[in-house]
Amino acid sequence: MKLVSFINNNDFTAKWGILQNEEILVLSISQKYPTLDSFIASGEEIDKSVIEKISVNDVRLTSPVSAKRNIFCVGKNYLDHLNEIKATAANSVPKFPSFFTKSSMTLNGPYDNVPLHGNATSGVDYEGEIAVIIGKECRNVSVEDAEDYIFGYAIANDVTARDLQTQHMQWFKGKSLDGFCPIGPAVVTKDEFNTENAEITTYVNGEMRQHSFMSNMIFDVPTIIYYLSQGMTLLPGDIILTGTPSGVGGGKNPPLYLKDGDVVKIEVSGIGHIENKFMNME
Ligand code: MG
Repeated sequence: MKLVSFINNNDFTAKWGILQNEEILVLSISQKYPTLDSFIASGEEIDKSVIEKISVNDVRLTSPVSAKRNIFCVGKNYLDHLNEIKATAANSVPKFPSFFTKSSMTLNGPYDNVPLHGNATSGVDYEGEIAVIIGKECRNVSVEDAEDYIFGYAIANDVTARDLQTQHMQWFKGKSLDGFCPIGPAVVTKDEFNTENAEITTYVNGEMRQHSFMSNMIFDVPTIIYYLSQGMTLLPGDIILTGTPSGVGGGKNPPLYLKDGDVVKIEVSGIGHIENKFMNME
């Protein structure tokens, strides 16, 4: 299933449902659980009784889940990206995943505009990533059991202010400007997402900048969940971004940062795409 959250353009109500081709099926279960977050947290099996069908053209898709707390992220999870940012000695593979978070206020819709925050930064960059949505509360999860706690997968852009990322030593500030985490367009439930073959591609104004496969990750999703959950509770609806492949603007010489009007599109096979225009909005 592809599950989406949306605002109806006609009556401005916020709802969620199953995306099927160009149609959204609103389910009777959404009367009991008015948000996708509350449905995920319920742990219930989905009852597919449809009460309403809405054309996807009549809605604005929003982030499928809300971030009740910071978005968890893995840095340096593709070797090619690691080499491009010269984060470590060439070809040295980290022993443990790097974790950081983005403020929950970064959350943004799959097709919404992203502010460039020109007063705060002049180095806005994209990072195409696959996001994991946690399905059940868990702690101290083994690699073998990690799959049980995944609800599904989405596409995200870990938008980063490169100048702030380095100026402030810790990455948090440069990762956390408002609107810096477009996510969506849907959460694809884990039973329908093939992590073996998943392919991720990022385009800027139609030009391909990033292209890789989930299988190139240094730490796969079960290993990420294992490390993150040791001594730390994960909650239903938590979002984990799994790292970006090579091809970011900051890795170019000279760096190629996003400017007013640039459009970043990130595609993941089996999920769809997100597409956001970057704009001076102050
Ligand atoms: Mg990232």
